[in-house]
Amino acid sequence: MKKRLAKLGLRTVGDVLEYRPRRYEPAVPERRIAELFGEDEAVISGEVRSTRLQRARRLKLVKARVADESGEITAVWFNQAWLADRLRPGMQVRLRGNLRGRDFAVRSYDLDGVSATADFAPVYPATEEVTVKKLRDVAGAALEYARDVVDPLPAELKGATGLPGKADALVALHHPREETDGERARRRLAFDELLVLQLGLARRRLGREEERATALGQPGELVERYRTVLPFELTPDQEQAIAEIDADLRGERPMERLLQGDVGSGKTVVALYALLRAVEAGHRGALMAPTETLAEQHFLTVEPICAALGVSCALLTSSVGARARRAAPSAQIVVGTHALIQEGVELSDLAVAVVDEQHRFGVEQRAAIRAGRRPHTLHMTATPIPRTLALTVYGDLSVTEITKPPANRMPIVTRWIPEERASEAYRRLTRLLKEGRQAYVVCPLIEASETSRARAAEQEADRLQRAELRGFRVGCLHGKLKPDDRRDLMARFKARQLDVLVATTVIEVGVDVPNATVMIVQEADRFGLAQLHQLRGRVGRGAEQSYCLLVSRRKEELTESAQARLEALVSTTDGFELAEVDLELRGEGQLLGTRQSGLSDFRFTKLRADRHLLEQAREVAEQLVDYEGPLNEEVERLFAEHDLPA
Ligand code: ADP
Ligand code: MG
Repeated sequence: MKKRLAKLGLRTVGDVLEYRPRRYEPAVPERRIAELFGEDEAVISGEVRSTRLQRARRLKLVKARVADESGEITAVWFNQAWLADRLRPGMQVRLRGNLRGRDFAVRSYDLDGVSATADFAPVYPATEEVTVKKLRDVAGAALEYARDVVDPLPAELKGATGLPGKADALVALHHPREETDGERARRRLAFDELLVLQLGLARRRLGREEERATALGQPGELVERYRTVLPFELTPDQEQAIAEIDADLRGERPMERLLQGDVGSGKTVVALYALLRAVEAGHRGALMAPTETLAEQHFLTVEPICAALGVSCALLTSSVGARARRAAPSAQIVVGTHALIQEGVELSDLAVAVVDEQHRFGVEQRAAIRAGRRPHTLHMTATPIPRTLALTVYGDLSVTEITKPPANRMPIVTRWIPEERASEAYRRLTRLLKEGRQAYVVCPLIEASETSRARAAEQEADRLQRAELRGFRVGCLHGKLKPDDRRDLMARFKARQLDVLVATTVIEVGVDVPNATVMIVQEADRFGLAQLHQLRGRVGRGAEQSYCLLVSRRKEELTESAQARLEALVSTTDGFELAEVDLELRGEGQLLGTRQSGLSDFRFTKLRADRHLLEQAREVAEQLVDYEGPLNEEVERLFAEHDLPA
């Protein structure tokens, strides 16, 4: 049993105490057997007179005659054959269920005392191995220790929040006396979660006050030329982002800004602006990416512009030659993976660092940047999360959003196609190929190793080459390719020497080929919403109309949430809107883009409903910054386990 409980994350009494019921049984009236009527749920109490086990097709029914002083009825349990032995004549039982024909269909029961049949009995997330009943027993036993739990909130602050004490909250969580009790308990526990996070953020903010960066003054001649070199006008959102960045760079307080924008919204253009501000002030800039592929992609974008401006720019990844690598650190702008930049570049030389996809960076790596005078830092993320949420998770960063993409884009047309009509998707794809466009086919997301994913992708590429894509040039991109091969493949695709890239999700970020205007995602129902949105972002990068074709099993075979995801993708291309939908569908704390952000630890917080609580937690955190209490450990644990941006 221990092992089975551990699978649910229940290892200690504390885990059990904080195991949140999914819901509570509603209150139902207790009735005398003779007075049962209709099909409404009710509770009856009585004595067992007789029992028998009955088989009806595949079902096993346990039937018991139960009597109270008003009458007798047959109570029926489905598929719980073992109960037949436990229900002995003469035994007192309490049953919760409803009339079905002339029988009483039992939903829950108590053989002694009142627990499962009680009003507001907790219904825990259970498994086949660990039933709700078992969990109730375990939680009931753990509750004896609830009074020993230390309340992390100092008494004087607790009063101000109007929330119940921790022990009371834990008791009420498992044994609410009325409907509102459970919710009050949840809010108190949610408050603690938010407080731990806000406390960590507040401390970090404080810790930064000592730090200094190089003040970069006013924008100068180089960025002036940069604007003229760009083949387009900046959008109002980009201008706004630049204005906010300029305001930060003027001062000595290190910039800590999060630049959020959908895929293709034009963040890189803004990031390069920030880097050039470092260069024109006589310093250097670095663009750090989480993967080599992404670093290479960035370099391909940035280098030609730098060349046009007479700024030296170098790529620093493990696959560039030793000589180039030695030379890189002296370039004015260095693009590379974070690890190599931290190794190879004297970080104090950097005036501006742009960190792409910041949630993928580890804490230590960010800490390394902070030694000595540190760069102004711009974190970029293409997995937008709602602004309020951003403030929660990145409470110590300033947030800039690019919400509107450049106007010349045509929205991607997204279609959801059932498997049996997949040939239509390929017909559309090949028609576009014949017009000179290029395409991606994304392989199913099988839960397996990178190696088996790679193999599956190669097989699928072979199959397509012989079937749907006969006559076209097909390449296969996956995570097991050697850097040289990968670069070569991407270069050939970019040069239109390949028509189709069959790929695993490695193309999710960074791949930028405007002539690729159609994407088929196989078994799209397996992907998360944010991931599909990222994948889709690989098309729609040029002026041509682009298409994203999501192929899945038939609608009826999908879970409700899979249907909702695909419907959402068809209905909008707005990443912020999708992030909201994702939040709704996945529930708090599981938002894809925030997987590693500490939010995944939220068990009680409902981010939408608890905004007010969040504000409170932030205020209390300010007062508790220097407080050495039981929360310290939790703050440290949260911030060590998770990749919270430094
Ligand atoms: P992101 O980094 O947000 O995914 P990029 O900066 O890579 O977006 O821009 C995506 C594409 O849009 C690039 O090809 C870029 O040249 C182009 N682009 C960026 N800003 C503009 C603009 N203001 N007008 C037209 N095209 C733009
Ligand atoms: Mg980009």
